[in-house]
Amino acid sequence: MTQKNLHSQILKTDIAIIGAGPAGLFAVFEAGMLKMKCHVIDSLEVIGGQCSALYPEKPIYDIPAHPKVLASELIELLEAQAQPFHPVYHLNQSVMKIARQSDESFIIETSKQTKIHCKVIIIAAGCGAFGPNRPPLNGLENFEGKSVFYAVRNKSEFSGKNVVIAGGGDSAVDWAINLADIAKKIMVVHRRDKFRCAPDSLDKLHTLEKQGKIEMVIPFQLDGLEGDNGKLRQVIVKDFANNIKKLPADYLLPFFGLAMELGEIVNWDLNLHKNHITVDPSTMQTSQKNIYAIGDIATYPNKLKLILTGFAEGASACHSAYKTVFPDQVFHFEYSTSKGITNN
Ligand SMILES: Cc1cc2nc3c(=O)[nH]c(=O)nc-3n(C[C@H](O)[C@H](O)[C@H](O)COP(=O)(O)OP(=O)(O)OC[C@H]3O[C@@H](n4cnc5c(N)ncnc54)[C@H](O)[C@@H]3O)c2cc1C
Repeated sequence: MTQKNLHSQILKTDIAIIGAGPAGLFAVFEAGMLKMKCHVIDSLEVIGGQCSALYPEKPIYDIPAHPKVLASELIELLEAQAQPFHPVYHLNQSVMKIARQSDESFIIETSKQTKIHCKVIIIAAGCGAFGPNRPPLNGLENFEGKSVFYAVRNKSEFSGKNVVIAGGGDSAVDWAINLADIAKKIMVVHRRDKFRCAPDSLDKLHTLEKQGKIEMVIPFQLDGLEGDNGKLRQVIVKDFANNIKKLPADYLLPFFGLAMELGEIVNWDLNLHKNHITVDPSTMQTSQKNIYAIGDIATYPNKLKLILTGFAEGASACHSAYKTVFPDQVFHFEYSTSKGITNN
C-alpha cells in the first residue's frame, strides 16, 4: 500500500484516546476489560507522557501498592497491563481535528493525516502538547539536545560532569539532589533564596550544600552560554546589580516549568476553565456528548492532579462510555478477579 493510500484509509475503533500518558494507558486497560478496542495517539515519540518525557528515572512514591517505582518502570508496567487488549499506538503525531458524524460517531485526524473513526473519544492530553519554558539565551538552540536538556533521560550521562541546574521548583531541587552523588559538581542557579519545593527536599538540598556537593548560585539568573559545536564550556549568570559570574559547565538543565499549550484542543468546542477541560466528575464526560476527559487535563471542584486520580477517572470514563459503544447490551459490573483478562 502506498503512503498516500495508507493516509486516506480510515481506521476504525471503539475509543480513540488522545494522549499516551499514565491516564491514557490505564484507560486502555479499563476499556479492554469492557471489551472496547482503543487507538491511542500521542504527539511524543514515546508513550508515557510526563513520566517518560520529564522524569523517567525519578522514583514515584504515591502509586497504590508500589511503595517506590521509577516513572519509566510505571510506564512499562502500564504498557504491559494494556497489551492483552492490543491497543494501536499512533505516536509522533498530534490530533488536530475532531469531526462529529451524523450518527454521533467521530472521525479524528492527526498531524500525519492518520484518520480514525470511533464511537467515543477520551482526551487524556495532560497539559496539552506540552513543551518546556526555554530561557531566553542567545544561541540556545545550538546547545539544545547536546548539552542543554529540559529533562533527564539517562542519569549516567552526568557522571563526573559539571552540571548547572537552573530554577527554583520541585524539578530543579529534585534533580540537584538526585545528581549530586554522581556529578563532579552541581551548581544551582536561582534568582532568590526561596524555593517552591517539598520541605523535605529543601532540607536535603541544604545538607548537600553543607557537604560541598552542591553550590548555590543565588541570586543569579542565566545570562549566556559559551562553548563550541553544541558542547558547553561555561554558563554565564548575572545578578540584579549586573555582576557577572562564569560557571564551568558541561551541561545546563533549565527547569522553568512547562508551557501549557492546549493547541488544537481549544478549537474542539469544549467548555474550558483556565486551560483545562471541565467535566462532570461522575462520568468524566465533557460538555460534548461522548467526549470524555481524564487525567491532568480534566478539571472539576477539588481536582487532585495526581497519577492515581487519572487512573480512577479512566475507569469512570470507560464505564460511562460502555453504553455508547454497546447500546444494545445491559452492563453488568464485575470485578477483574471474577472475569479475568480476556481480549475478545
Ligand atoms: C517532575 C514531576 C514529578 C511528578 N511526580 C509525581 C508523583 O510523584 N506522583 C504523581 O501522582 N504525579 C506526579 N507528577 C504528575 C504526573 O506526572 C501527572 O499527573 C501525570 O503525568 C498526568 O498524566 P496524564 O496521562 O493525565 O498526562 P501526561 O502525562 O501529561 O500525558 C499527556 C500526553 O498527551 C499528549 N498530548 C497532548 N495533546 C495532544 C494532542 N493534541 N495530540 C496527541 N497527543 C497529545 C502529550 O504529548 C502527553 O504525552 C509529577 C510531574 C512532574 C513534572
